Amino acid sequence: MSEGINQLIIVVSGPGGVGKGTIVDRLVTRDQRLWLSRSWTTRERRPGESADAYVFASPEEFEQRIADGGFLEWTEFLGNYYGTPLPDLVALEGRDVVLEIELDGARQVKERFPTAVLMFLLPPSREEQERRLRGRGDPNDKVFARLRKAEAEEPLGRAIADHVLVNDDLETTVDEMLRVIAGERAARDCG
Ligand code: ADP
Ligand code: 5GP
Repeated sequence: MSEGINQLIIVVSGPGGVGKGTIVDRLVTRDQRLWLSRSWTTRERRPGESADAYVFASPEEFEQRIADGGFLEWTEFLGNYYGTPLPDLVALEGRDVVLEIELDGARQVKERFPTAVLMFLLPPSREEQERRLRGRGDPNDKVFARLRKAEAEEPLGRAIADHVLVNDDLETTVDEMLRVIAGERAARDCG
């Protein structure tokens, strides 16, 4: 993946529980030209979580892949590694890439690929974010850690984002993001 390639890199970021995972699943279902990257993580699989939600790796495997230069970006988030493997350009088949990643990774991608489009999602309120985290089954300590992180990161997210969206009604947010993507494609095809 280089700047010479005519693909969009769409980065979806925002605090835990805002709805990123739910949204990117809908984006790729509704727009077949989008390709969702599967990240690596060293965290444990959650009860009920699909086995292919991530490549679940040991810390040793993850560190080996870092040493081999196999990540487009990686970070440590609340005690675990997370990273985007370098995409397989053959599997991509010219589709636009969607990355669902936290803010430090989003910042790295914007530095490496300035034309990447960063959409930063916000919850309608901290109370609603907390309801979503609890509704998803996050334990108390994770809920508090994610709320604290959300508070601390919001200014940076707003500052580096190309688009800031409040995920209130899910379908409205997805429609709005598809409109943004259509606009970015039109701009790319003209340029
Ligand atoms: P993230 O990937 O950002 O951590 P998730 O996609 O896991 O967040 O969403 C957290 C919870 O909030 C899930 O239970 C999801 O169904 C719910 N959710 C997502 N978007 C909305 C929305 N717009 N309104 C209400 N609930 C939502
Ligand atoms: P979770 O443990 O809830 O699945 O993910 C925790 C955070 O890590 C979320 O904000 C998610 O977007 C982020 N994340 C998932 N994959 C990656 C990745 O490959 N790189 C980075 N930087 N963050 C990721």
